[in-house]
This record gives sequence, structure tokens and C-alpha cells, in this order.
Amino acid sequence: MHVRSRDPLTLPVLALNRHFHPVQVTTARRAFLLLFGGAAHALDEAGDVHDFLSWRRLPVRDSDDGLPIVGGSLRVPRVLHLRRYERVRRPTVRLSRRNVMLRDAHQCQYCSKRPPVRDLNIDHVVPRSRGGVDSWENLVTACRPCNLRKGRRTPEEASMRLLRAPTAPRWSASMLLLLGRPQPFKEWEPFLKSA
Ligand SMILES: [Zn+2]
Repeated sequence: MHVRSRDPLTLPVLALNRHFHPVQVTTARRAFLLLFGGAAHALDEAGDVHDFLSWRRLPVRDSDDGLPIVGGSLRVPRVLHLRRYERVRRPTVRLSRRNVMLRDAHQCQYCSKRPPVRDLNIDHVVPRSRGGVDSWENLVTACRPCNLRKGRRTPEEASMRLLRAPTAPRWSASMLLLLGRPQPFKEWEPFLKSA
């Protein structure tokens, strides 16, 4: 089993609605409650659906997290199927300095350098003094020298090209931002790709 200092009950679990679309990320604690109460089933890596009794018979393998229980260990599910949940919810990511930097992978959007995070600024593409607003489309990560060089000018005026047009994070990227996880569990991949 992986050595993890974290409480296995706080591990993230991807929850799917009745139609197998990802709708939220919950905790293993809530996942076990829903599974035990019958409101949800757990999916294994092959996509087979298990109720609690069937799930507790699955072995805890090296790649799994296990929850110690009386007489053994219970595999922590990675994907949960909410049997009666109909809604499709697209989570929005809060616009924040940290999340803009995560979207931009901590890379200056003008010179493409990746200095330490403390040397990164958030740049208003259209400066605030020119009516530029705080939005996913108008905020980018910039290193200090680029931010200083651009000053109160637009990229065109400063002859500084953006690496890419800034946009709000997409759904699957949103999930990762919400979690602050660089990589989802491999069991999540089929569902994040289809989202
Ligand atoms: Zn730069």
C-alpha cells in the first residue's frame, strides 16, 4: 500500500451522476456513507459497478488506498456512481491569483519563463486604468520584468505577444484546479476525457 500521511477518509473521490457524467469531487468519507446507505455504487478500474457488500470483498492492492476496518482493510473507491443524481453540474472555478497561475502552469504568458512563484505577478492584459476588468479573459500570469515592461499598455502597444488567449478553465481542467491536484487518479481519466 502507498505510504500516505493523509487520512484515507479525506481522499478525493470523483462522483458521477446517473448518466455517468462527472458532477463533483467528494471525500472518501462521504463516498463510504453514500455507498453504505445504498445511494451510490462504487466503480472499479474495469468500470464494474459495486454495492457496498460487493465492494468490501475487493482486495486492497498496492495501487489502492485502504481504510483499516475490523478484520482487514477496505479499498477506498476512486469513482462513485450516484444512482439517483440527475443534474449535470459544471463547477465554476473561483477567479483568484492562485487559480490564474495554476491555469497558466506558473508560466509567464509573455516570455514563457517559469521563475519561482514569488517572482510572478498577475497582469491585466487590458490595464485597469484603461477599463480592463478582473476576468479569466483579462488576467494572465507574468514574470516581474515582463509585467514592469508592459506597464500601463496593452500587449499590442507594448509589442508583447501573449502565448495563448486567456480563457476560463475548461471543465476537466476545472476539476483539477478545484482539487489542486496536478494529476487525477488514473481511474478518473475516462470520465474527465468525456466531460
Ligand atoms: Zn516574462
